[in-house]
Amino acid sequence: MSLLRLDRLHKSFNGQPVLTDISLEITEGQTVVLLGPSGCGKTTLLRLIAGLETADSGHIWFRGEDLSQRPVHQRGFGYLFQDYALFPHKNVAANVAFGLRMQGWPVEKQRPRVAELLALVGLPGFDHRPIHELSGGEQQRVALARALAPAPRLLLLDEPIGALDRALRERLLGELRSILKQAGTAVGQPVTAIYVTHDQEEAFALADELVVMNRGRIEQQGPPLELYRRPQSPFVARFLGMSNIFSGTWQADGQVQTPLGLLQTASWGAIGDPVTLLIRPEGAQVMPLDKDVPNGVRGRVVDISFRGRSQLLTLAFPDYTQSIQFNLDISIPLPPIDSPIHLWIDPLACWPLDTKTRN
Ligand code: ATP
Repeated sequence: MSLLRLDRLHKSFNGQPVLTDISLEITEGQTVVLLGPSGCGKTTLLRLIAGLETADSGHIWFRGEDLSQRPVHQRGFGYLFQDYALFPHKNVAANVAFGLRMQGWPVEKQRPRVAELLALVGLPGFDHRPIHELSGGEQQRVALARALAPAPRLLLLDEPIGALDRALRERLLGELRSILKQAGTAVGQPVTAIYVTHDQEEAFALADELVVMNRGRIEQQGPPLELYRRPQSPFVARFLGMSNIFSGTWQADGQVQTPLGLLQTASWGAIGDPVTLLIRPEGAQVMPLDKDVPNGVRGRVVDISFRGRSQLLTLAFPDYTQSIQFNLDISIPLPPIDSPIHLWIDPLACWPLDTKTRN
């Protein structure tokens, strides 16, 4: 059964629709990530769930109960926002114990719970440290421990690590998923979390279920890998970091005529129908220049940039203005900038962004 069910929510500000027809079911124990560009309504949706805003229409159900009459403080949800606002004059333990005190936990039970949470977020023994002595990342961990301590029925996180520097964000991100999963095990009740971000990397790292939003609507939702493999629109593909998108026309046997040439796909469409084709960035292999291969494209190297374990190759084609990018393993030798290059495109990497035309 779903823990939380959003049913056709609408919300406008000053006559401008900000959320349109939002329906979503969240299963207990899941981390659901709301991903979308700035201004698409993510925070507003979180605030509706929290009870900080009221929907114009639609319902929010929590374990079968309509939340519309239940004020914020009675919802039993935990929050962690970007400006996590710790109490600067209290020490770490007092900050983490805050929600426990509010809930009337006996003092003797507060202390072990605080210690348990500090261990979980990697700050064991930090109990008596003053807040102002902590680094940004440590403060963020304390804020997370504070939000998790009372074992909230639902944890709402709004860009909680957005303000940290890149290195810290990456480290905390790596730990956040296991913290969320383990925090539930400790109290014998899984943590269900809704996490808002505009960062695709964060979304992939954390989500059990990914919800991509665009202009106040849900554009697509599903497990992250499913969305990556089967984006349903150019918006979703681009937002998940895939920008090789071309207009083409279906030909016989699942081939598509594109500005790059005729490409074999693993799908099909009615001959002559238009199609928007995504070519995945990981779907190319370098071929010898003097050999023709099926599904080969020839272009010119425009740029090569190093991305950790891969290299991002940008190609240009004669008579075509749009370039295309591929991720290739760092071990693959590439010709220098401005040289001709020949690539084989994997048919499985050619994905029509139009649900009607797939196998
Ligand atoms: P960001 O990632 O920048 O925080 P978001 O996706 O969370 O963006 P929201 O903060 O939900 O987006 O805002 C959605 C739209 O609603 C924006 O255009 C914003 O200006 C508008 N908006 C939000 N709150 C209010 C308000 N209280 N009054 C008027 N307009 C608002």
